[in-house]
Amino acid sequence: MPPDTVIAFAYHQILVVIAGSVCLFGTWVGMRHFARARATEGTTRYGWLFMASVGTGAALWASTFISILALDPSLNSAFEPFATGAVLIVAVVACLVGFEIGSRHFTLAPELGGLVMGSGILVMHVIALKGWHITGTVQWNVYGVVMTFVLGLGLSALAVNRANRPVTRWCRHGAAIVLAFMICAMHYAMTASTTLFPDPSATLATYLIPAHTVGIAVVAAVLLVMGSGFSTYVIDLRSRTESANRIHQLSFNDTMTGLPNRIAFNERLAFDTADAHEKAHKLAAFSIDVDGFKDINDVFGHSAGDLLLIEVADRMRRTIGPGEFLARQSGDEFLGLQVSGNHPHDAHGFAFKIAQVFAQPFTVQGQPVRLSASIGYSIFPTDTPERDQLLSNAKLAMHRAKSKQRGSICMYSREMDDTARARRALARDLQTAAERGELSLHYQLQTSLADGKICGAEALMRWQHPKRGMISPAEFIPLAEETGAIVLLGEWAMRTACRDAAEGKIPGTVAVNLSPVQFSREDLAETIHAILLDTGLSPRRLEVEVTESTIMSDQTRGLHILRKLKAMGISVAMDDFGTGYSSLATLHAFPFDKIKLDQSFVKRLPGDAAAAAIVRTVLALGASLGIPVLAEGIETEAQWQFLAGEGCAKGQGYLFARPVGLAQLPAAIDAAARFVRNDTAEFTDAAAPAVAAA
Ligand code: C2E
Ligand code: MG
Ligand code: MG
Repeated sequence: MPPDTVIAFAYHQILVVIAGSVCLFGTWVGMRHFARARATEGTTRYGWLFMASVGTGAALWASTFISILALDPSLNSAFEPFATGAVLIVAVVACLVGFEIGSRHFTLAPELGGLVMGSGILVMHVIALKGWHITGTVQWNVYGVVMTFVLGLGLSALAVNRANRPVTRWCRHGAAIVLAFMICAMHYAMTASTTLFPDPSATLATYLIPAHTVGIAVVAAVLLVMGSGFSTYVIDLRSRTESANRIHQLSFNDTMTGLPNRIAFNERLAFDTADAHEKAHKLAAFSIDVDGFKDINDVFGHSAGDLLLIEVADRMRRTIGPGEFLARQSGDEFLGLQVSGNHPHDAHGFAFKIAQVFAQPFTVQGQPVRLSASIGYSIFPTDTPERDQLLSNAKLAMHRAKSKQRGSICMYSREMDDTARARRALARDLQTAAERGELSLHYQLQTSLADGKICGAEALMRWQHPKRGMISPAEFIPLAEETGAIVLLGEWAMRTACRDAAEGKIPGTVAVNLSPVQFSREDLAETIHAILLDTGLSPRRLEVEVTESTIMSDQTRGLHILRKLKAMGISVAMDDFGTGYSSLATLHAFPFDKIKLDQSFVKRLPGDAAAAAIVRTVLALGASLGIPVLAEGIETEAQWQFLAGEGCAKGQGYLFARPVGLAQLPAAIDAAARFVRNDTAEFTDAAAPAVAAA
């Protein structure tokens, strides 16, 4: 190689390195801004997107010109002013559109954004080359040009993909490196596809900008990019420090435990999620709930409970390390955050550390007390990219932990906790179902088994959900019990059933189910009394159905309320007998008016010897205590015959009537009466059935 060529070659390499470096630094700054755009919302997001586009666009603009100049640095060349400006506009707009699409959430959004950017970069090259005038001629190789296009599109898609789907904290830098590499690769592809034929006799038009002026403009652009990038970095850092200070000030707001409060937690969560998003690391949120704390308050009083919570908070605070945060939500609920590495063990470690706090007993009024906490956690962004969702995930996991053994730790699991989420949504709907008129009562007739006379009807609640259709009480009653909504629903059912009965629409006694939760209200008897007065129904025509768990949960209170009801003249039936404790003590503790034998035994009659034996025992028990038995769930004539033969007084089941709405009740009464009249003769001498007098 002659010495002149060697110098030109070295000069050419230096320009390529400069083009790559300009692109690297400019896009690195741009990617920082892009990461901030992804972590923010609304107008702030567009502000960051604009900054990212100007930074990256200017860097691409500069590097495009340098890489063109590097094709032959010794050549006398110049650029058209219009093309030079147009290239800058195309660069910024392509980056803006590319980043905007790239930061959206649909599948392949980053890759599509990258393709838009890549296309922009190619257009920039085409315009820049079109506006490049040399003293000589340029010849292009078609394959080389195609190669350049493919490289441009592919690598820019990869760059935005890396920036938007970070798996490590290095991905952000990876995106800048890929773009810089793209500029260099495109340059070499272009070099390989061009042949320059210098013509010293040719002259350049005077309106063109000489290459060295463009070179100076490029240097100025690089400085501008660096300067603006650095200053926004400083401003951003400062405002973040300010918000960190604000969090610090808000931090000590829970006066009792001295821990940060809920507001401080929310601020910290917003800050940490944005940071985690930007730096592509993980963040775990924890919901910590002390088990059985209500009992402590009940037994030792509230001030002792407060002292205990202070001790719990103190112990937990001592375990907190760097990157970890603890707050008090309310009562005995605490919240935690951990800026973690990428390993799920980090989060479990934190939860375990908190659980260990409870390993040593606490002292309340000189007595050792053992406590535990149920802990749930969820990881950002693995479980959810939404910060509000993160905490609600952690809470769902905590509730699952609570339903397990005391002191359990549960990690959020989409399959398991989404069911709980759906249940909660349903529970919310249930709160207002009565107001929206979605609830109704169905009535199922009860008959005397010996003579087939209709003696009453049980009121059964129905819920017509606007989206899900008819929902079974077996599903929504437990839900209403969990949330306490059953108190209002139960009152509504009682009022509706009493009104229907008082208006003469229901034959005989109307039976209404009462939930154990309704017994937690001291005023249950008074409420029912008021309903009877309002509707004008005689207490003799009302029967309440309770299960054994009603009495078991708080025996003294339960029995006290039942006695009040009985004193008013209301009869009380024991529902679902045989499924719970079925204890003699319960039957002894209170003079029930009826035992309702659970349908699970009736279903197996008459073939199943064990079921038959149990049924006989219950019937004998009822006879010895003087309490009539009603068999639930009679579906076949064989079951009816067996029960009637064994002396069971009453029955209820699909054989006689299904639960129906009030409008269909007269038809159901007719059908049941007709059915019994045709059938009774087969095994009883009883007269034709009739509706029992009220
Ligand atoms: P439950 O009080 O034992 O009511 C009897 C259930 O057995 C009703 O189910 C009834 O439709 C069903 N059933 C009646 N005869 C037959 C039969 O021959 N075969 C079969 N397979 N099933 C029969 P439903 O209406 O789905 O109610 C389920 C449970 O929901 C009730 O059991 C009761 O515990 C609760 N529930 C219903 N309404 C209310 C209410 O207003 N308040 C409260 N607290 N609980 C209610
Ligand atoms: Mg019942
Ligand atoms: Mg029952």
